Amino acid sequence: MAQPLVVRFGTLHDQLGPPKRAGALAIADGVVAEVGERGLSAPSDALVLDAVCVVPGLINAHGHLEQDPTVEPMRWYATTTPTQRAIHAAGQARRALAAGVTTLRDLGAGNRIAIEVRDLIRQGRLPGPTVVPAGHVICMTGGHGAFVGREADGPDQIRSAVRKERRDGAEVIKFIATGGVLSPGAVPGAQELSEEELRAGVDEAHRHGLHAAAHAIGTEGIKAALRAGIDSVEHGQLIDEEGIELLLDRGAYLVPTLAAMRRITDAGAEAGLPDYVVRKASDIAKQAEDNLRRAYQAGVHIAAGSDAGTPFNPMDGFAYELELMHSMLGMSPQEVLRAATVTAADLLGVMRGTLAPGEVADLLVLDQDIDDGLQVLRDPRLVIKAGEIVHTRAS
Ligand SMILES: [Zn+2]
Repeated sequence: MAQPLVVRFGTLHDQLGPPKRAGALAIADGVVAEVGERGLSAPSDALVLDAVCVVPGLINAHGHLEQDPTVEPMRWYATTTPTQRAIHAAGQARRALAAGVTTLRDLGAGNRIAIEVRDLIRQGRLPGPTVVPAGHVICMTGGHGAFVGREADGPDQIRSAVRKERRDGAEVIKFIATGGVLSPGAVPGAQELSEEELRAGVDEAHRHGLHAAAHAIGTEGIKAALRAGIDSVEHGQLIDEEGIELLLDRGAYLVPTLAAMRRITDAGAEAGLPDYVVRKASDIAKQAEDNLRRAYQAGVHIAAGSDAGTPFNPMDGFAYELELMHSMLGMSPQEVLRAATVTAADLLGVMRGTLAPGEVADLLVLDQDIDDGLQVLRDPRLVIKAGEIVHTRAS
């Protein structure tokens, strides 16, 4: 059992109400034991830590452990074996955790890789976040993501595909509702799975208690997915007013993955990405910022997810997504933190994201309050997962 901890904080963003000031948090047996005054009584063997600021461990609602952000995806899959990608994924999990991501939803990996990584982490054999894996994405034959997905056409095949992912250990089902940026030939704005197929898939997932997420960039595909009952729209760049209304009506979540697009447009063609990737990303980027900001202003549930693993978008760069939510969408640091903790936890259906007594002690010790700049999340001083210090900053 890990040593009991007492963290004396200047500010605690426990996500249970307004921030608490000048108190202490006691941790024992992996959970928050008590939150109270600085002088709260602690076991004599407790390690006492001082923190300017404490926040819950971050939840990245969208990543891909098996992908390598330094290699163009088509080339990555063409030049590596599943075993190599699995070993790579183990390293990515460690990186995410060290950067403060204590929970990660993996929205698409082949060969059960993210599922196996989840299991090894659960067994204590591998350091990493709590992983909520989707398994393969479910896409139409020849559609976006087909190189790593399970192709299915028509409601019956879609239902069968959902059942296979569930059998193989998926905790969430990911559907490809529209084209994407990274597959050659796919048109990001174009709808791929039909509304009828999406409805069958979402129904099948929900019947087994699994959440359903849709990769959806184009306007019509977003709305089809929402009418079909999807729980989260991933990306959502070309959403229109009707789509925003549907998000609000259904209480569904938007995961805007701002970093995915921004990293590609920042790097540009000089970085060695295929022309079609850079062109598709910059075409979308023009409208995306306005559309996503309108969705935020309309009050939709926004969960933070970076699409880590896509080009130049590293597992340990989640803070960049959070900074973009502030600078591009206009969310306050506390709203951003909420999107990366309690809101993301609600979307994932995990008991994480808040720090009440009795809850799992996933938290970060920071040298500065997030209200003074989200940059402090780039490199937390300590990462604590289930009451154990799993990462200490080098300097
Ligand atoms: Zn993705």
